[in-house]
Parts: sequence; structure tokens; C-alpha cells
Amino acid sequence: MSTATALLREDLRGFAGYSSARSVALRGEIWLNANESSWANPADTAGLLRRYPAPQPEPLREALAALYGVDPARLLIGRGSDEGIDLLVRAFCAPGQGAVAIAPPVFGMYAVCARLHGARVVEVPMREGEDGWRTPLEALGEAALAEGATLVFLCSPGNPTGEALAPAAIGALARRLSGRALVVVDEAYAEYGDAPSATTLLDAHDNLVVLRTLSKAHALAAARIGCVIADPVAIGALRRCQAPYPVPEPSAAAALAAVAPATLARTRLRVEETRRERERVARGLAACPGVRRVYPSAGNFLLVRFADADTAFARLLAAGIVVRDMRALPRLDDALRITIGAPAENDRVLAVLGAPREVAA
Ligand SMILES: *Cc1c(COP(=O)(O)O)cnc(C)c1O
Repeated sequence: MSTATALLREDLRGFAGYSSARSVALRGEIWLNANESSWANPADTAGLLRRYPAPQPEPLREALAALYGVDPARLLIGRGSDEGIDLLVRAFCAPGQGAVAIAPPVFGMYAVCARLHGARVVEVPMREGEDGWRTPLEALGEAALAEGATLVFLCSPGNPTGEALAPAAIGALARRLSGRALVVVDEAYAEYGDAPSATTLLDAHDNLVVLRTLSKAHALAAARIGCVIADPVAIGALRRCQAPYPVPEPSAAAALAAVAPATLARTRLRVEETRRERERVARGLAACPGVRRVYPSAGNFLLVRFADADTAFARLLAAGIVVRDMRALPRLDDALRITIGAPAENDRVLAVLGAPREVAA
């Protein structure tokens, strides 16, 4: 039995989900089965919005599968990876009983979705050392087993820590939790790092799940397109928990255009620029008075500790620059997370914080 079959909520076995007007393959010329309007909205001049969209638009599914190097049967398109997180919790955690395991500080949505579902959140804090933050994978695995967590959320590159996890270490955790928990690797920032994607481990581990998104490196945050990549059995289960038409037509069109080869080539140049800027900004920040630590980052952001984070935040804000305030989080009460912007924007950040000119060049 696959891990997804074993871990699917008991009460959802045999659950078919909503049967939409588009879920059965019918052929016809005159479509009168979904109570759609017979005319396009006057503002919809191209007439693209009148019909309900395909639940999983095939051309986009195939293009995304090719982009991520996986079989289309392994891929579910959703409203950002945020929806993927929510679906995973809903399908694989018993409401009010199940548990998920995380290593904070980490992206907040895993705990939010768990809490909304009444699932417990098992926390094993990250460790901080000379070379940055480290997810304690072994301890996390042991805690998941001890507490009966059916989902372990990893974030690589880590938000906000910037940590990149080695695929071999992820594989070892997946092996340890085989049949007992799904290991979810959120790769929202994968394009900015050097580590190979955890998708390379899917054939070896049926309990591995990878989340990808077009929101960050592909600059389509408003389109809300993300993917869950997993065992086809898990994908089928998630699809049955998902809304009937989760992919709006304009978003599907924008996403398809974004993953066309010519667009991808230009996107990759932008990502390269962001990576170069990340190293320049890291050097500049490290040389600023009052900066205590700049963590290495495999993402498009830097996590920075200040001697006086309040003043740094206020000075940036007074200059019209909004950065992410991390001060409310445990162990980050002196930290800000700064997204890598366009070169001129980064120059402004460095100037406001007093970076010496020769370092920031
Ligand atoms: C930004 C972010 C997301 C959200 O992605 P969407 O696809 O826009 O929902 C997911 N995970 C992490 C770690 C993020 O930082």
C-alpha cells in the first residue's frame, strides 16, 4: 500500500468529492449542462470568461510537469502553493486529532492551516550555528513518529532562514517516515538556490511531496498558480478535496505564457541578476554599522540581525522602504527580512543603513 493510501483520512476513503459539469469527459457542440450564460459579459470582449474553466487545464499541467521534470500524473495545479498546503492538511490529517511537524522559524502557513483544521502543531526548533540555520531533520522525524504527525513540512530554501537542505538528507527523512508520514518540501524559492529539487527523489520515496510556485521567481504572485508534486495516489486524493474549478482562466493563460521557452529564458536572466544582487547586498549589509549578522541565503531575501532592529526598521520606513519585520517571532526579536529588489532599490536600502560605498558597489 502506498503511503498516501495508508495516510488518507479514514473518513475520506471512498469520498468522490464534488462532481462538476467538467469532471466527466463528454463531447458536444452545444453546452447546456453547467448553467453558464449563453452570452459573454459585455466587458469580456475576448469572450474567454463565460465558461467554467477546465479543473486542471491540460496544456498548463503538461508545461509545468515539463518545467519541473515530472510526469503530469504527479502534478496538481492549485491557487498558489498556499492551497497545496491547505489541501495536504485537510486530506491527510484527521480534523481535531491529527498533527503536523515543523521546525521554526519557518513559513507561517503550515501552522495556520493546521490550526484552522484543529490539528496539533509539533515544533522542533531549528538549530543555529556558525554557518547559519539548520533544520534538525533527525529530531524532527523522531518527533513526528512519537507524536503521530502525518505531515512534516520542510522549507528549502527556507523562509525566513535561507537554509538549503541537501536532497540526500531529505531522502533519509522520507525513508525513516515511509508509511508513517508525508514529507512535504516547500520549494517556493528553489530557482534562487543551487540545490537540486527534491523532485529528483520522488521515484525513490512515495511519501515525498514537493510544492512549487510561479509566485516568486516567475513573478506571477497575483495569478495564484502553484503546484503540488507527489505520488499520483496523493494527487488524486488532493484533487477530490479541492474546489471544483480552482484555476481561473486568466491565471492559466498567464501561467502558460510564463512557462513558454522564450519567456523562461528571460526569467532565468532575472533570477541570475537577483542572485548576484543577493551576494552584493549581503556584503553591503555586513559592512553596515549596527548589523550583527547576515545569514547566508539560497532565496531572494536576506535575514539580518541588528544591534537595534527598531531603529533600522524605522529608518528604512522613514525612507519609504518596507521590509519584513520578524521581531515578533521567537529568537528573531532583533531581525528583519529584506527582499532582494531591483539594483536601484537595493542601493537605497544600503544607503539608508549606511553601507560604505566601496563595499556596496
Ligand atoms: C511565498 C511562499 C509561499 C506562497 O506561495 P504561493 O504559491 O504564492 O501561495 C509558499 N511557501 C513559502 C515558503 C513562501 O515563502
